[in-house]
Amino acid sequence: MGLTIGVDIGGTKIAAGVVDEEGQILETYKVKTPQTPEEMVDAISKAVSEVSKNHQIEAVGIGAAGYVDDKRATVLFAPNINWRHEPLKDKVEQRVSLPVVVENDANAAAWGEYKFGAGKGHDDVICITLGTGLGGGIIIGNKLRRGRFGVAAEFGHIRVVPDGLLCGCGSQGCWEQYASGRALVRYARQRANATPENAEILLSLGDGTVEGIEGKHVSAAARQGDPVAVDSFRELARWAGAGLADLASLFDPSAFIVGGGVSDEGELVLDPIRKSFRRWLIGGQWRPHAQVLAAQLGNKAGLVGAADLARQG
Ligand SMILES: [Zn+2]
Repeated sequence: MGLTIGVDIGGTKIAAGVVDEEGQILETYKVKTPQTPEEMVDAISKAVSEVSKNHQIEAVGIGAAGYVDDKRATVLFAPNINWRHEPLKDKVEQRVSLPVVVENDANAAAWGEYKFGAGKGHDDVICITLGTGLGGGIIIGNKLRRGRFGVAAEFGHIRVVPDGLLCGCGSQGCWEQYASGRALVRYARQRANATPENAEILLSLGDGTVEGIEGKHVSAAARQGDPVAVDSFRELARWAGAGLADLASLFDPSAFIVGGGVSDEGELVLDPIRKSFRRWLIGGQWRPHAQVLAAQLGNKAGLVGAADLARQG
């Protein structure tokens, strides 16, 4: 059986996992995420070497948050790591003596969900990841679509509000400013500020101030029925669902898969996303609707997907 390694580079930890052809993780090894590009190569190579000791490995797939070129070799640009035209494939291959491919992390997660998670049985799937920001992946005709230059599916930076909120990318009104974990916190703070009497649970979970509200507080408060927290999720869902309706106009998939930390809240966020999607879907009464599904693999999707994409060669 063919085993490959998937590498997930998180903000605090790098995880390498041995994955079989069924998408099962057999063994993992984690190291702390370092700062510099040189240390990053050391850390990835160390994790891969450790986890491969007891297995016959065919290839390694690395999921990287950034723009990865069409050769699946070089990270052209990464917003949170100091990678600028970083030849990650070559550097790690020299160290681990295995074939390496580099994939955009959201693409890897989308592939993992399509192959082994919520997308099983679908040929045309669009994934969105509602994390700190908003990532995405396109699978059409059972193929991951990376675009000509490798940088497709950056859905988070589609402008949905002309001259809207300033985005970290330098543009304004990007979708991820309205549908993401960061947006959720902003909605909650605004609402708690305007109507603190409706945010008693929410405010009690933090330090009592509006500024002290964090994402985990909004989730916990919404589960307890806090009106401001629930309404903040609905606002996020309105923007997310409207965006999916636009993506349906572009791609016409049979399923959308919604992943990322925000989707951990399940129907609390999925149900209003579906309502908003139906509300904004053009010709909605007269056409088939794509399903809107919750991701199933959680934070393992990226690792499993990167490993499987490495197997594809
Ligand atoms: Zn942006």
